[in-house]
Amino acid sequence: MGVSTLSDCRRAFSGLLAAGALVAAAAPTHAAEPRARNVILFIGDGMGVSTLTAARIYDGQKRGVDGASNLLSFEGFPDLALVRTYSADNLVTDSAAGASALLTGRRTLNGALGVTDKIRFADCASAKDQSVPTLAEDAKKAGLAVGVVSTAAITDATPASLYSHTPSRRWQADADMPPEAVAAGCVDIARQMLDLPKAAQFDVMLGGGTANFVSDDGKRMDGRDLTAEWRKAGGAYVTTGSELKALPSSTSRVLGLFAPNNMMRESVRKTTGTDAPRLVEMTTKAIELLARSKHGYFLMVEGALIDKAHHVSLASEALNETVEFSQAIAAAAAMTDPKDTLIIVTADHSHGLTLSGGKRDTSILGVLQGTDDDPPVAMDGRRIPILMYATGPGAAAAGEARPVPTDTDIDDPDRLTYAAVPLPSAAHTGEDVAAYARGPGADQIRGLMDQPGVYRVMRSALGLK
Ligand SMILES: [Zn+2]
Repeated sequence: MGVSTLSDCRRAFSGLLAAGALVAAAAPTHAAEPRARNVILFIGDGMGVSTLTAARIYDGQKRGVDGASNLLSFEGFPDLALVRTYSADNLVTDSAAGASALLTGRRTLNGALGVTDKIRFADCASAKDQSVPTLAEDAKKAGLAVGVVSTAAITDATPASLYSHTPSRRWQADADMPPEAVAAGCVDIARQMLDLPKAAQFDVMLGGGTANFVSDDGKRMDGRDLTAEWRKAGGAYVTTGSELKALPSSTSRVLGLFAPNNMMRESVRKTTGTDAPRLVEMTTKAIELLARSKHGYFLMVEGALIDKAHHVSLASEALNETVEFSQAIAAAAAMTDPKDTLIIVTADHSHGLTLSGGKRDTSILGVLQGTDDDPPVAMDGRRIPILMYATGPGAAAAGEARPVPTDTDIDDPDRLTYAAVPLPSAAHTGEDVAAYARGPGADQIRGLMDQPGVYRVMRSALGLK
């Protein structure tokens, strides 16, 4: 069809521009792009778009304001893209392959970290010479300070994507490895993090996972205490929220391990009064310490418990963790200058949470409202929860009616949200995730991207060769 009028012409031209945007997003290497002194990547694990929508409603309702028009802290960032998340071997990525694509620019197999797609999962010999450098390692080599913060074990897949190269994300300590993998020369993830020459070690590492670093009361079989070795080599080591808070800002290298495995969800930490830092406290301390670097820094912060709560059908907990994550981003945005710091907020993959109707003032944790005499019911005669999952342990037990939130358990953080298909741990889902950005290079976050494209935007903003 020919272009006959000026407006047709404009339309055709904007179509070309749109196609161009996709290409630009795929290869954003413009010499004239503004350089970022610092890059902070926030990964909300399992934080799909439906989780974001539900979390902003949950957050607003919890604060007594309208949920639907509420915004999470980063939803006001100027630049936005959708991001495809498939892995080298799967329509739906896991955290290992997803985070590896964001941190190395290369897709790998589900379950693998920092290696090419030529390996076989959990096969040590197949991973020989297949390591690919991560953005964090390259940044460190280029003289930047590097930090990693997570509410998971610091050896869990997403934080490990900054520093580890392994055909299995499960090899967090040597006890997790089959003897033939150890014999073939593969090294566990905890050792890959700390057993390095000083110049290659990260500057700030905060999260859970003590058990993977120690032998006494831990999982190490080699008799080593990697935390003691770290201290002996001059690094600071903290294990409580108070100790982290008290660290002087002149501290140059710090390891903080605040739980034997993953850290507690915020609601549990609060109820039990545990002296562990919140995500926002780890984030602000990391920035305070890294900001002293002469040549800028790269920091990755993971909100890991969004995913962990989704896996066990704890929807309100996943939303509460998303709000915690949003507060950490708000603090980071307030502490940094958009002129020199690129902040990107994205997810590694989504989760099968759905949001099925509800009046504006209905609690998002409840059921669809009608009149008292005529409440909406489904074909099984039962009320309709607003939030439901595709898969997970919240499914009805065999022969039993599906669970529905009631007035008495609606706010119970341990109440399972209904899942259609029973699984002990919910499956991740494969729809695109969002990416939000602010700062130098943020305008390259646009259109339909993929995870290696997000990597290239960060790399280009830092001016890494
Ligand atoms: Zn997961």
